[in-house]
Amino acid sequence: MTDLAAPSLVQASTSVDVGALAAFEEKLKGCVITPAGADYERARHVWNGHIDRRPAVIVRCRGVADVIDAVKFAREHALLVAVRGGAHNVAGHGTCDGGMVIDLSGMGGVDVDPAARTARAYGGALWRDLDREAQAFGLATTGGTVSNTGVVGLTLGGGLGWLMGTHGLSADSLLSASVVTAAGQAVRASATENADLFWGLRGGGGNFGVVTSMDFQLHPVGPLVLGGPVFHPLAAAREVLRFYREFCADLPDEAEAFAGCLALPDGTPVVALILGYNGPLATGEKVLAPARAFGTPLVDMVGPLPYAARNAMLDVPFGIHGLHRYWKSGVTNTLSDALIDAVAVGAEGMTSPLSALLFFRVHGAAARVPSGDTAFSLRQDQWDVNVVSQWSQPAECSRHIEWTRRTWGDVEPLISGATYVNHLAADDTPERVRASFGTNYLRLAGVKRTWDADNLFRLNPNILPA
Ligand SMILES: Cc1cc2nc3c(=O)[nH]c(=O)nc-3n(C[C@H](O)[C@H](O)[C@H](O)COP(=O)(O)OP(=O)(O)OC[C@H]3O[C@@H](n4cnc5c(N)ncnc54)[C@H](O)[C@@H]3O)c2cc1C
Repeated sequence: MTDLAAPSLVQASTSVDVGALAAFEEKLKGCVITPAGADYERARHVWNGHIDRRPAVIVRCRGVADVIDAVKFAREHALLVAVRGGAHNVAGHGTCDGGMVIDLSGMGGVDVDPAARTARAYGGALWRDLDREAQAFGLATTGGTVSNTGVVGLTLGGGLGWLMGTHGLSADSLLSASVVTAAGQAVRASATENADLFWGLRGGGGNFGVVTSMDFQLHPVGPLVLGGPVFHPLAAAREVLRFYREFCADLPDEAEAFAGCLALPDGTPVVALILGYNGPLATGEKVLAPARAFGTPLVDMVGPLPYAARNAMLDVPFGIHGLHRYWKSGVTNTLSDALIDAVAVGAEGMTSPLSALLFFRVHGAAARVPSGDTAFSLRQDQWDVNVVSQWSQPAECSRHIEWTRRTWGDVEPLISGATYVNHLAADDTPERVRASFGTNYLRLAGVKRTWDADNLFRLNPNILPA
């Protein structure tokens, strides 16, 4: 899949009428940034340094009215549209060549209602913004595994995170959303208002409109949770990952166990068990004890910490802005010995100390929701397996991309499922994109027809209106 592989039902233009743009800018509370602007170089870049695109105009919105006007302007001028929240999409869907970027990074506020235990996150909020406000009241909701992904972008795909065993995906705690549609209208979506749209927003990606805010149910997590990594030498990867498979089989909902092969900051290659428990610290100590007692770890960093700190624990190296990235991923409900061997071989041949092979365990509440209840269809006890390459030097691209492709070539035949929507790569095929929506694709195509029949919002894992 490339950004432009998805056909638009309207002809998109990539250039902007300068006179019309000036009149449009007059109305905005935010601003427009064009290639002539001093801020353009900084503003055009997204988190993945490998994405190098040059939009014709970036609209920095400062409110719902700005978003409405931006959508109308893009329609009237038949502009290609990219929507940007946290800018983390690895495939680069948050930007485009030519056309308009609707950039919500200036709308990053979060309001918490501690009595109702709810939070409203605006369209450009990052998880660290939501974590900080919610943690002031001992509350949280399932967010990502790093703190600087966008709340909306992550939730639209489903949202895998540290609290999913207990509270489901991020999308499972979504109560309602405010959306500017392709027609430039502001609507609400919830279980009782525009319920089809609400269903589609919980796993259907950015296909249906620009989300200007989302309301979430929050959950008590207390001042401290138990969490942290246990590192073993990479030479022990096969034994550690076989142990990990058995440990995951009996995990209570409150426990989390992710795993990965990566390198420590000093370059030492390791296999890590990345553990957590969302409940009383003493119970967590007992539940996680077998994973901490296994083998001969290099270091055990599990301990009590604020939830917000747990959510920022992997920010280095995974949240560093501007590194080049390329990844492949898919879900599997079994970790065979052959898969573990393929992962170990991949890790041994890693070409960058910033790269990683990761297993995210999806279980408990996240797996129990029936597949058709939300647009996120990949509901089962499973692991999300990621082959991630990261590097800093542009001249090294082909080496690291080749490693990812080679390793994925060994891993893919050994996994059982599709790719999580938010983990699709820029070159995944339209068939793989469609498979990521599983049995919900046809219903999603109908929701798309209702809300975006012309496929204005198509720089995403695209659903064709039908
Ligand atoms: C380091 C890293 C860690 C990650 N960890 C996790 C994780 O733990 N769990 C997980 O589930 N995913 C994770 N992801 C994947 C992440 O969910 C997706 O990359 C997601 O698209 C990021 O959203 P964003 O707003 O930051 O990105 P952007 O690039 O800004 O947006 C991506 C897409 O989301 C849509 N979008 C964003 N904001 C809006 C909006 N306000 N209205 C309408 N559409 C919008 C658009 O289609 C846009 O193209 C991670 C990604 C990275 C790079």
